[in-house]
Amino acid sequence: MKFGSEKRKKEGGDYDFVFDNQIEFIKHEVMNCTSCCGEAYGDSLEKSMGKSGFEKLQADRRSLPVYSYREELLKAVEEHQVVIVVGETGSGKTTQIPQYLHEAGYTRHGKIGCTQPRRVAAMSVSARVSQEMGVKLGHEVGYSIRFEDCSSDKTVIKYMTDGMLLREFLGEPDLSSYSVVMVDEAHERTLSTDILFGLVKDIARSRPDLKLLISSATLDAKKFSDYFDCAPIFNIPGRRFPVEINYTRAPEADYLDAAIVTALQIHVTRPLGDGDILVFLTGQEEIEMAEEILKRRTRGLGTKIGELIICPIYANLPTELQAKIFEPTPKSARKVVLATNIAETSLTIDGIKYVIDPGFVKMKSYSPRTGMESLLVTPISKASANQRAGRAGRTGPGECFRLYTSYNYQNDLEDNTVPEIQRTNLGNVVLNLKSLGIDDLVNFDFIDPPPEASLLKALELLFALSVLNKKGELTKVGRKMAEFPLDPMLSKMIVASEKYRCSDEMISIAAMLSIGSSIFYRPKDKQVHADNARMNFYTGHVGDHIALFRIYNSWKETNFSTQWCYENYIQVRSMKRARDIRDQLEGLLERVEIEVMSSSGDLEAISKAITSAYFPNCARLQKNGSYTTLRHPQTVHIHPSSGLAQLLPRWIVYHELVQTTKEYMRQVSEIKPEWLIDVAPHFYQLKD
Ligand code: ADP
Ligand code: MG
Repeated sequence: MKFGSEKRKKEGGDYDFVFDNQIEFIKHEVMNCTSCCGEAYGDSLEKSMGKSGFEKLQADRRSLPVYSYREELLKAVEEHQVVIVVGETGSGKTTQIPQYLHEAGYTRHGKIGCTQPRRVAAMSVSARVSQEMGVKLGHEVGYSIRFEDCSSDKTVIKYMTDGMLLREFLGEPDLSSYSVVMVDEAHERTLSTDILFGLVKDIARSRPDLKLLISSATLDAKKFSDYFDCAPIFNIPGRRFPVEINYTRAPEADYLDAAIVTALQIHVTRPLGDGDILVFLTGQEEIEMAEEILKRRTRGLGTKIGELIICPIYANLPTELQAKIFEPTPKSARKVVLATNIAETSLTIDGIKYVIDPGFVKMKSYSPRTGMESLLVTPISKASANQRAGRAGRTGPGECFRLYTSYNYQNDLEDNTVPEIQRTNLGNVVLNLKSLGIDDLVNFDFIDPPPEASLLKALELLFALSVLNKKGELTKVGRKMAEFPLDPMLSKMIVASEKYRCSDEMISIAAMLSIGSSIFYRPKDKQVHADNARMNFYTGHVGDHIALFRIYNSWKETNFSTQWCYENYIQVRSMKRARDIRDQLEGLLERVEIEVMSSSGDLEAISKAITSAYFPNCARLQKNGSYTTLRHPQTVHIHPSSGLAQLLPRWIVYHELVQTTKEYMRQVSEIKPEWLIDVAPHFYQLKD
């Protein structure tokens, strides 16, 4: 379809020539309703107008597709130990099924655990369910995500990330405090979900009282059913309205710009109040950039265009802003939600009529040959593209704008996304399974086995880190490391700090590395000030790790002052998160009986402790200013945000690799080459 001038003149003459660049779309096909379309969602909502908020919520609950299947579903769960549940996104699987089971008495002798691949989903869904049940979040309904447990002894419905349930196995190998486990969003096939499949299948055999639900948004449930010994598949027919699919005429070179232009085109050409826009982007930085550009382009247009409410949503979005995306849009405005893949199936936002799909996702990729993992912006699969389009047709007929051609869709996109287990580093999982006493990894009951090379690589790394001994058994060091909910190298760094007497510094560094969002901000008009403030922490040419420690410590010395953060262009929110994480790591140190000790300014001790964990991530400077990784030579670069980006030390270790325009090393520290032989003789002397 074309947002051409003719049509626009008719529909909204006032809006002509507000924006000059345009994108032309070709209407291609209509994705039909799956089994639709009954009464429009929201009918009962209107009926309930005027009732109290709580009653309205109850009416909302009854209007969800899953509601008509409540009794049948409960019967299926009663009759079978394992049930596979399939239902369109938004049909009420995540929020309703645990409540039905609770109402039916399943929480009398244990809790209901419901896993989510994403932390934001766990938080947001539990908040919703606690409202629906009229209880305080953290009491009867709670959530648990890494470094944040919002549940209590009272909690009977617990939403958690799949990774957290995996960790619970360490303390409670038969999950005896649970009566029901619902592995939700199974179609996402995250690494932790795949491992959970194997573990819950195993405990279900020895615990006939345990009920298992595997729920998925895709119709391809036979695979799950086969895996769980022919478990019955329970279908919840969704209400999906037809969605018109539009493709671009030619591939778009700059998808971010194309997405913004398309959003604005929709906004000015379609009547206000007819529906909101959902844009799929790849990550926080991209979303923030899009938000800024959208604001800039609509600024000063005043009443020429209707109000556009911009709502970002991504993994590290602060909790208080998460609720905003669910607020109903005023009739005089339009909402544009800028979301990562989280809005594909994990979160349902009501009122979306237009979906803009650039066709990309940020995905982990891993090379078992080099052992290198990187985050890459990759084309999505056809399955993903169809899920995304489906988000436009939940409350009425919708439209999806694909920023790629129909030819691209047909010929370039894979049918399905490769399960994470086949494209990731398995170090963490192997350590987890080993500490659960599962030694025979090759014969573990994987739904799809990982590549053998990845398993071997993980074993090799864990051996190099002294987590496993020659027989493949967990060492004392490995046992301590398994207590930390961190990647093996990070936990090794902490455990190794005992020897270098710097555990106090190391947990601060580990906490700062685990925040997951940026620490500094650079306001446009004060970039020089911000950069100077940042470089202050690098005095003496220290590396990024020590700078992170200095930042934390300086903040602590000001008694965690917010003012100090402002003055130094540091995000106070990130720092508070670091403090929370650090507190927990300190607790874990005590648990593994490592004393909190400070190196009292001995920076070399800190660097050595880092090297003793990160030695596999070592790189050496080349004449042209790039670096070569030591073990499997590959050209890499220091990330421009690093304090060492200009200094270019000869030998460094890095925390992680990220691939954007180049292969970048993020968070690097200088080392001396002789330390390598010192900390990892088995690794470097034998190989080189
Ligand atoms: P499913 O799991 O089948 O995709 P959900 O149970 O997540 O469906 O969603 C059911 C309904 O609950 C949707 O209409 C959704 O918009 C609403 N909902 C879920 N979480 C929230 C929230 N945090 N705030 C407001 N509404 C929510
Ligand atoms: Mg769900």
